[in-house]
Amino acid sequence: MGKCLIIGCGGVASVAIHKCVQNSEVFDEIMIASRTKSKCDALKDKLEGTSSTKISTAQVNADNTDELIALINEFRPDVVLNLALPYQDLTIMDACLATKTHYVDTANYEPEDTAKFEYKWQWEYRDRFKEAGITALLGSGFDPGVTGVFSAYALKHEFDEINYIDILDCNAGDHGYPFATNFNPEINIREVSANGSYWEDGHWVETKPMEIKRVYNFPEIGKRDMYLLHHEEIESLALNIPGIKRIRFFMTFGESYLTHLRCLENVGMTSIEPIEFEGKKIVPLQFLKAVLPDPASLGPRTVGKTNIGCIFRGKKDGKDKTYYLYNVCDHQECYREVGSQAVSYTTGVPAMIGAMMIMTGKWNKPGVYNIEEFDPDPFMEALNKWGLPWQESRDPEPVD
Ligand code: NDP
Repeated sequence: MGKCLIIGCGGVASVAIHKCVQNSEVFDEIMIASRTKSKCDALKDKLEGTSSTKISTAQVNADNTDELIALINEFRPDVVLNLALPYQDLTIMDACLATKTHYVDTANYEPEDTAKFEYKWQWEYRDRFKEAGITALLGSGFDPGVTGVFSAYALKHEFDEINYIDILDCNAGDHGYPFATNFNPEINIREVSANGSYWEDGHWVETKPMEIKRVYNFPEIGKRDMYLLHHEEIESLALNIPGIKRIRFFMTFGESYLTHLRCLENVGMTSIEPIEFEGKKIVPLQFLKAVLPDPASLGPRTVGKTNIGCIFRGKKDGKDKTYYLYNVCDHQECYREVGSQAVSYTTGVPAMIGAMMIMTGKWNKPGVYNIEEFDPDPFMEALNKWGLPWQESRDPEPVD
């Protein structure tokens, strides 16, 4: 059916590429382009010939719009799937505009010098994408991503009005180390030590890091401690779900993880201020990253499941209603299928599906849109087919 250019070849991209190759009816041809070409070539060697999808590779610096334009003009993809880092979102969107090519990503733009997740920079491209007749689909991972699709689906089929959304992200995976991070330790530690926030009655409410804790009994996992964090999809859902009064995001963390983190913070190991050590300047957090296990090495040893989903409360036919949509994913099953654990899997599958929605024309709306602004039905169907089946509960335990 079409051609897709995938930018980046890390944890999430690897899963998305496996899934594109499995889905060769839609993905006739893919190009994998990233900073380190050898990683793209290694994946091509592993996957080429396993289906009819043709695979090519290229080296690209995605911070450089001209390089991206040249690559897009050479390959002529129907869609660019951006799975590099959030810092590259705008240069890739510029290249898509210049070449009139559709755009999909999984995380909103973040300037490198300020850790501030906001959609305003990408939303500024709306008119230009509309005039060019191309679609930008923002946030097609799990959270953001599937959580927005779940919200659109609940609004379409289950509610007249949704008033409360609690997004619950539980990773009950055990890698056997006392302390390690599932993805880039620098980004992980920065996210966890930042202030939390939630949306209530039309404005943000800020909290101290880990200030709000709840215990939740997750289906297929059991009781886990979870903490309120800021998360980017709250910003768009607050605008796109009419009648919304409150949206919160909770993520689970184990006791051992938090104790280690507190200790590392207390002794200054998580600082990003350079210090002088034996005549050299070093950044403590970067040194810490160097001594921690490489997140990619956790795949084969992680056991257990993830459960990510949304609990909705609102009204249907004048009555109060509660409804829970979630997915459970098993780390070892993901590893057996694509060689990655569930954290990358739950992001890479929806990334492939987002590109598929655009390539098949099921989602075609010139402009810049968040995922909940599209018809959720074909995406929900694809989740069941491509490895992330969803489950529902009409009588879930509420979060107080
Ligand atoms: P990784 O660090 O594993 O991979 C990033 C890839 O991008 C690497 O291959 C890296 O190249 C490449 N890259 C970085 N900078 C450039 C550049 N300037 N030019 C070209 N390539 C570049 O990250 P993940 O796979 O874990 O994450 C990918 C994206 O997914 C991120 O934006 C992340 O925020 C998002 N994400 C979204 C989630 C969701 O649910 N919505 C959940 C998890 C992640 P190299 O190999 O040389 O380092």
